[in-house]
Amino acid sequence: MENRDSKPCVITVAITGSLPRKENNPAVPITVSEQVESTHAAFEAGATVVHLHVRNDDQTTTSAPEKFAEFQERIRKLCPGIIVQFSTGGRSGVGSERGGMLHHRPDMASLSTGSCNFPTRVYENPPALIQELAEKMNSYDVKPEIEVFDLAMLYKAENKLHVTDGLLKAPLHVQFVLGVKNALPAKRDLLEFQVSKLENLMPKATWVAAGIGRHQLEVNRWCLEMGGHCRTGLEDNIRWDKNRLAESNAELVKRVADLCVEYGRVVATPEIAREILGLKAARSVDGH
Ligand code: ZN
Repeated sequence: MENRDSKPCVITVAITGSLPRKENNPAVPITVSEQVESTHAAFEAGATVVHLHVRNDDQTTTSAPEKFAEFQERIRKLCPGIIVQFSTGGRSGVGSERGGMLHHRPDMASLSTGSCNFPTRVYENPPALIQELAEKMNSYDVKPEIEVFDLAMLYKAENKLHVTDGLLKAPLHVQFVLGVKNALPAKRDLLEFQVSKLENLMPKATWVAAGIGRHQLEVNRWCLEMGGHCRTGLEDNIRWDKNRLAESNAELVKRVADLCVEYGRVVATPEIAREILGLKAARSVDGH
């Protein structure tokens, strides 16, 4: 494991997702205005990356490009330097629709490099769609965050990076997802194994892990200890602990920021986070 001493930690906040609803936790931001407000508070608490899904006002999922664009324009004005990451996840659209907002040039977008089972359905990412989304990200200069729900997805990303045609540019940023029912469970030895494979395959890659539901906090701790970055937010977990709901995205972010101190890490500023992730300085509000 690399030396973690005072290594900055990039905190990602996944504010909304496509599953939780107000009935589950009234703090889940649904409208763009609520999302902007929730992200602003999370940014002030230490989050530098915002992972975004958008919803219709009735809380149903959508992949409407204009909602992504409106959020991005407003948040860039309000939170200078914040890193905007659009989700191309499979619950909010079908096939190519999932990349229909990439022309708005977010800093980053999620890219799953394989399929797996989710609690009640297949999370379907056929090879042709992965290729299409990766090409689109490349053409709009959007850095992918490789979402790994299963180890094969790491090898698929590596293959694209080095073998196919250099479509994905090094260094990659990888997110290991743990604790989704029917996919990989949240076990520390699984994370350690995956990180060791990543370090062999792509020594310069950066990584973060997300623990779903009650596993969120323990996975945050593992990441801090192992030198990774952290992801939190209401998309992955709506609770503070078993006794009460989280008050806000900012409350969850603040807990991670406080934990950084315990593990001898510092919370990355937007500038440092951009350097770590190999991103250009903040784009101007028109996206160029
Ligand atoms: Zn997501």
